[in-house]
Amino acid sequence: MFSKILIANRGEIAVRIIRACKEMGIKTVAVYSEADKEAMHTRLADEAVCIGPASSGKSYLNMKNILEAACLTGAEAIHPGFGFLSENAHFARICEESNICFIGPSYVVIDKMGNKSHSKELMKKAGVPVIPGSEGKLESLSQAKEIASKIGYPVMLKASSGGGGKGIRLVYSPKELEDAYPLVKQEARNAFQDDELYLEKYIENPRHVEIQVLADKHGNAIHLGERDCSIQRRNQKIIEESPSTVLDETLRNKMGKAAMKAVKASGYYNAGTIEFLVDKNKDFYFMEMNTRVQVEHPVTEMQTGIDIVKEQIRIAAGETLRFTQKDISFSGHTIECRINAENPEKNFIPCPGTIQELNLPGGNGVRIDTAIYSGYTIPPVYDSMLAKIICHGEDRKEAIAKMKRALEEVVIDGITTNVDFLYEILEDVDFEEGNFDTSFLEVKKQKKEKLL
Ligand code: ADP
Ligand code: ADP
Ligand code: MG
Repeated sequence: MFSKILIANRGEIAVRIIRACKEMGIKTVAVYSEADKEAMHTRLADEAVCIGPASSGKSYLNMKNILEAACLTGAEAIHPGFGFLSENAHFARICEESNICFIGPSYVVIDKMGNKSHSKELMKKAGVPVIPGSEGKLESLSQAKEIASKIGYPVMLKASSGGGGKGIRLVYSPKELEDAYPLVKQEARNAFQDDELYLEKYIENPRHVEIQVLADKHGNAIHLGERDCSIQRRNQKIIEESPSTVLDETLRNKMGKAAMKAVKASGYYNAGTIEFLVDKNKDFYFMEMNTRVQVEHPVTEMQTGIDIVKEQIRIAAGETLRFTQKDISFSGHTIECRINAENPEKNFIPCPGTIQELNLPGGNGVRIDTAIYSGYTIPPVYDSMLAKIICHGEDRKEAIAKMKRALEEVVIDGITTNVDFLYEILEDVDFEEGNFDTSFLEVKKQKKEKLL
């Protein structure tokens, strides 16, 4: 087992990883930008190294400074968390070449699966159903139009390197495609330094259902069931839950088997997630693979009792999986809400600022993953997610009731957050009845506007 791990991230996920390391008796090294001198992760780690100015390009994405920090402190492994360098094959490769273990899959697999259009081609060959679309990347606008007219509008234009809901555009006609093409290309170049695009059929009213997998370096792989992440704003999740109200045991097994095919076909190891869309006929299609730990991993942890971050570390250290598929069982129901510093009234624009007063909920079955504290100033340069509340109940009804009372206890004074907005969703009759798809929030907004 490693004796020291460097965490190449910030915020709640860095804190989450530090906690797992401490419980395993592993020393931790935090890296921080000049804006994060007072941040929780900087304070909680055994050692902390400043890696550059606030701008993430110069700090949390600065491979050279991060690797130097690892060498200087004698860290044997790097946990990349999510976002930042977590799906960067080049970084994973230079870690390996520097004799530092990258806690994730091999760089070869990140390269294969991290690019969304390439991974679809690979999955198709492996016999996993994929969303119909361009075969690989788009070469030109005219080619995009040709493919779109073949598969039929509406279509989704997407960045191959995209993530966090960015670099995606829904288009209904050739004219809209013409307008969107250069815009998405530009957006992708700015956000991901890669303007490669692909295109796929727009699945109407789907549910986003993803399968969590764990695989070791010795060929053993299992899945930990699903998470339903259909409640999204701007194509990014804000509420996730498990089990999904649209899956029965047969469909769960089918999707689990498809996820295992994806793992085997790509030579995957460590924790990963296969994202699918499930349509009205309960047909499912591979959408992308996230080759890292995900924001909503605590949902699965509450359902299974397995600590996914600790398993990631054990797998990276070369240990054999401690469970077989038969050992995995699920209990009750879990829901997660993402609390963001954003204004839902103004198209979810981020609202950084200083937290004047803070109270976070607790109690039976309530877990909080966060890195904020009273008096904390949220830097404007990073992601707007402040905290995750995860509630476990004996069934969905109790999980919802718990989440509602937890949200009622939240006090975050001094900044604008989406707490009231989340509460409204939990109160919605359609949500309560499991009667929703990924268009839920958009449809709700349109109904509201009509009433005004
Ligand atoms: P998840 O897939 O874990 O549910 P999100 O899609 O919300 O999470 O992304 C989690 C974080 O990682 C966000 O801060 C998001 O902006 C960032 N992120 C995700 N994918 C990428 C990517 N390909 N490139 C850069 N940042 C990413
Ligand atoms: P990201 O890498 O940003 O997570 P995804 O490819 O996973 O992007 O898509 C994010 C969300 O966008 C999905 O969860 C879904 O709601 C919507 N979406 C993406 N592709 C399609 C599609 N072909 N049809 C319908 N919705 C889609
Ligand atoms: Mg996704």
